[in-house]
Amino acid sequence: MRRIKYFPEVMEIEAYVYTAGPIGTRWLEALRAGRLTAAYCPKCGRLFMPPKMYCPYDFEEVKELREVEPVGVVETYTVVER
Ligand SMILES: [Zn+2]
Repeated sequence: MRRIKYFPEVMEIEAYVYTAGPIGTRWLEALRAGRLTAAYCPKCGRLFMPPKMYCPYDFEEVKELREVEPVGVVETYTVVER
């Protein structure tokens, strides 16, 4: 018989401060300043928004943000209702 485990102390998720990461923080700061940017992969040239620390296509580290035009195409979306 499996016993249910519980933790009477503070859950770990409440004990830590999570950040958006180095490039995510710079992306959010640029967004707050009114600039729309995307992470640029120097190997394949793809742009990612929201930014990724590593390119999912070639695993290159992504460090640079490039300003992008405030226009685009919504290819998909999800509606969440409470
Ligand atoms: Zn890439």
